[in-house]
Parts: sequence; C-alpha cells; structure tokens
Amino acid sequence: MSLSTATRLTVFLLLLSQISRLQAAEVQDVRMWRAPDHTRLVFDLSAAVDYTLFSLDNPDRLVIDIDSSSTSQGFNGLDFTSSPIRAIRSGERDDDTLRIVLDLETAVDPSSFTLAPNSEFGNRLVVDLYDKEPRPNAALTAGNRPAPQSDSRREIVVAISAGHGGEDPGSIGYDGRLKEKNITLAISRALFNRLQSMPGYKPVMIREGDYYVELKRRPEIARQSRADLFVAIHADWYRNSRARGVTVYALSGDRADRENSARVTQKENSSDLLGGVGGDLAIGNFDDDVALTLVSLQMAWSMEQSLIAGTRILESLDGITRIRKDKVQQASLQVLNSPDIPSILIETGYLTNPEEAQRLNTSGFQQRMAAAIAQGVMNYFYETPPEGTLVAWQKANGITPGSYTVKRGDSLSEIAERFGLSLAQLKASNSLQSNTIQVGQVLSLPGAAPIPASEHTISRGETLSEIAQLYRISVAELRAANRLSNDRIMVGQVLKIPSL
Ligand SMILES: [Zn+2]
Repeated sequence: MSLSTATRLTVFLLLLSQISRLQAAEVQDVRMWRAPDHTRLVFDLSAAVDYTLFSLDNPDRLVIDIDSSSTSQGFNGLDFTSSPIRAIRSGERDDDTLRIVLDLETAVDPSSFTLAPNSEFGNRLVVDLYDKEPRPNAALTAGNRPAPQSDSRREIVVAISAGHGGEDPGSIGYDGRLKEKNITLAISRALFNRLQSMPGYKPVMIREGDYYVELKRRPEIARQSRADLFVAIHADWYRNSRARGVTVYALSGDRADRENSARVTQKENSSDLLGGVGGDLAIGNFDDDVALTLVSLQMAWSMEQSLIAGTRILESLDGITRIRKDKVQQASLQVLNSPDIPSILIETGYLTNPEEAQRLNTSGFQQRMAAAIAQGVMNYFYETPPEGTLVAWQKANGITPGSYTVKRGDSLSEIAERFGLSLAQLKASNSLQSNTIQVGQVLSLPGAAPIPASEHTISRGETLSEIAQLYRISVAELRAANRLSNDRIMVGQVLKIPSL
C-alpha cells in the first residue's frame, strides 16, 4: 500500500467515524422477556451506537449510557412482574449521552451486546440481567406431579423445544402478523399437557414462555433433564403461499460426524455424552480414536432411533394434516445435535399458506396436532421401551400403551376428560356397557390416531361433538361435510367423516 493510499484511507476512516458520531441515534422502543434464569431487554435503535454499562448498589441499579442518543420513550408500557426490574427511567445528559437507569429489586449479573439490522428489526442493544440466585418459579421440569409409584419404574422423559421465542419471532405469517414463536409454544404446551396426562411419561419444556433459548443450550437442557427423546416444534415458511404440509426431520450423518470429531477433541462433557454409561467410560480416559468410535456408536444408535420415532410421528400425523414428505428428512440442524438423545424436529405446517396458517392458529387444531405427536411418541416408546421404565413394565405385563388403572374416587367421565377422550370413545375401546368401573380396573386408552372411516352411523346417546372428537375433527368441519345447520342429529343417521 502506498503512503498516499494509506493517508487517504485514514482520512476516510476519520470522516466515517465523524459521520457516525454526528448521526444521533434514537431509542425507539424497548421490549422485554422473562426467562427462567434471566430477563432480556432489547432496545430498538435508529442507528448503531456506542454505549457503556455499569452497576451501582445501595439501592441496586444498572446504568446504560448510550452515546449521542435520545429517546421520546417513557419505558412505562412494560410489565415488570417476576423480573428484577422495579422501574426504568432515562435522561439526556449535557454531552448528548442518553442515560437509562434500571431500578432493581435485587442485584443482577448483567451482560450486553449489540445486533445489526435483520429483515425483521433494525439496530438493537440487548441487555441480559442474569439472576444471582435462581428464582422460585425457575423450574424447567414438569409441574408438581406425584412421583411414580415405584422408583424402579421411571418415567420416560420427553424434552419439548418450542422453536424461537422472545426477540426471535421465527417465520412471519402470510398476513404479516402471525408469528411462528407463538404457534410453536402453543403446540408445545398442548403436547406437554397431553404427555403429562399419560402414565409413565414426563414431559419437560425447553422454553415455557416468550423468551429465547440459544440453539446450543436446548439439547443441553434436554440432557440435564435426562431426556429419552428431544422433540423440536416449528412452523415453516416459503416464498410462495402454495407450499403446505408437515415435515419431520431427524439428525443428519454429515453434521453428526463433524460435530463428533469436534466434541472428542474438546472432550467436553465427555461422560454426559455417553448417556447412562457414566463415569467409568468417560471419554477422557480413552485415546481419541476409541473415544470417537464410542461416540459414533452412540450417535449411530440415536440417529436410527430418531428415524424410527420420526416415522411413528409421521404415521400418527397422517389424517390430521397434509404430509409434505412421507419420509423423515435428514438435515443439518443445530438443534438436532445430540449424539446421545434421539432428536427430531417437526415443521408443523406453512405460515405462508393462509389456510394452513389459520388452522395452525386455532386451539382445536393445535390440540389435535399435539395429540397426534404424543401418540406417535408413545407408539415409538411402546415398541422399544427404555429399560426400567413404567412403559417397559407395562409392555412386559401385557398392558397396552396409554392404559390407566382406576383409582379410588375416579369416575369414567372424569377419566375420559383427563385423557381428552369422549365418554363414548372410552367405553367403546373398553367394551363397557355401563359407566360402572372398579378400583384397580385397567382401562385401555384409545390413541389419538384418527380412526380411518368415511362414514359414521349414529347410535343412541351420541352427540355431534363426541363424534367430532372421535374422529379428531372439529364440529364445524363435521357440520360442513354434512351440510348441517345445527347440532341436531338422529339415531341411525349416517354422517360423512371428512378427511383433512
Ligand atoms: Zn422455525
């Protein structure tokens, strides 16, 4: 580089920094999310900024000084409940610095970074306030259910990862408003409830609210929860509105191999990577070749299991919604990145397809989708139940998946409701003539997979909503298919059952 070029470059850089300094930024908005272990604030800015951040105590405060900035924001619209923040105030100082002060209930460990504009947002300043002590409501595990009857029959743990969240909305719907993060959370919650009501299953939510959990962190949470299966829930996007249908992905070999070598080199969390094998077989005790072989074996197993689980889920979804690819797809997705936990990702449909997006946004469809996924999961585990689980015991004792043993005080209608079944459905699947049940009686719970049928002849006592539930369709869909203007039906009447 000649001297003159260097000089010119220097002048240019000086000018550039002058310009950026002259260009005052405005703090246009602030958004907040509460995660189990931290609170995230995102400040939306009109331009890139320089800033400094420091803590003060007595009382606890966090101060953010943003150079050459201003705001007309009052920061009053935020709900600080369950966050460590009491109030946010701001003021412009003589040197054009905008000072934002967070008044805190308790001291926090702050961390911050800036983000460049993307398709959705402009420049942002992200401030994470990590709790110094875990807050009481920070538990990531399933609610306060009683422990299973016997320690020797453990529950199967299913980690449910609702895609995106917080400042990451995921795909945006055809209408410009629908956000993937909300759909994924709703379906994930429905799946959680469904599995939680099943004896022998313990679901765990990777995220429980509208906040972001890093992709790398998601399988880690699953591993800490000793998950037997990792299920990520997403909704798709495409540049035209015609694409539709569900796609199920499992971990791909390419990525797996690359990741494995990296893992072995780092020997990170090595004993954890071998699942239950534990301390004796910690990778650190082996040379790299042996370690790589061990992890590869484990990976080959989880990849195979991922494919089987994905296939069972696809089978179960058939009839609930359109299947885009009738085989489980393999893809290099970071979230499907556990060598030890069978992992699948479900793209539940296209938000860019108006019809599918609207359906995905109804609670009825979310429930049906979740019920079908849960059924697929249970079918998979009943085939090859992990050793020592209640499901393994059930299978060994000839108890069908999703069976329920009647307890004192139970009524048939209560049990039906608990498992999302109609009374008629529960009675039919157990050949019961009356509603009388006995303590200790084992009821089989019919699965969520739709019963293939194109017609239904109405018998005495059946209602339209029960029939709709039986075939996993909505009353509206059933009425539309039969041109019914009200819910009145007659014994002996034959209804058309629409396939979706
Ligand atoms: Zn997604």
